[in-house]
Amino acid sequence: MAKTYSIAIDGPAGAGKSTIARRLAEELGYCYVDTGAIYRTVAYFLDLLGVSPKDVDGVRRYIDELTVEIEYDETGAQHMIMNGMDVTKDIRTQEISQKASLVSAHKEVRDMLLDMQRDVARKHNVIMDGRDIGTVVLPKADVKIFLTASSQVRARRRYEELIAKGQKAELPQILKEIEQRDYQDTHREVAPLKKARDAVELDTSDLDIAGVIAAMKKIIGEKIPL
Ligand code: C5P
Repeated sequence: MAKTYSIAIDGPAGAGKSTIARRLAEELGYCYVDTGAIYRTVAYFLDLLGVSPKDVDGVRRYIDELTVEIEYDETGAQHMIMNGMDVTKDIRTQEISQKASLVSAHKEVRDMLLDMQRDVARKHNVIMDGRDIGTVVLPKADVKIFLTASSQVRARRRYEELIAKGQKAELPQILKEIEQRDYQDTHREVAPLKKARDAVELDTSDLDIAGVIAAMKKIIGEKIPL
């Protein structure tokens, strides 16, 4: 099989990973994999069943009944398929964000999703974003970038995104949720959010999207042919 390239982008919620990764993937002709969407799908499935994301036995009991698939439409957009049903839109709520963060702490859940993520990278050139891509999923990724921004900036971005979509949002509440998710994601035992030793850290607090893309292309271009 021909060599495939992989770019791992990790970082906390709201650092701009998905917006940036999607655009870069489009420019480079890579496949974009949003791994947060996979954890969201698991959270959504358990939520429909009324299983609390903190209920260890419940999660273990029902997880085998779930099949998660990733599909791409003709525009290249990623769709999440839960037991044959497209749930791409349903998983984008604040409630599912919080539940995904709790569900993703279970070892059984992470183990079940590991091969699926690696498999995409074996077959395609990928830009994969998440929390543990450079540390656990693709430890040999050609490029590793750790995207950060202050929690205030991240909360403000999320707030503006929701308002632009016509949704109700309150900045202090969003900030609280972001900080809570940061805490959960960095303190869990299995695959916590952390910068891989060989990742380049990029703070996006004072950069706009074009600035982040330019900085990322420079980092990527030093490691792989563009
Ligand atoms: O990136 P997104 O906000 O969609 O991720 C939702 C949640 O899924 C995160 O808060 C995190 O707990 C979990 N996640 C993870 N590992 C990944 C991607 C996401 O644990 N690779």
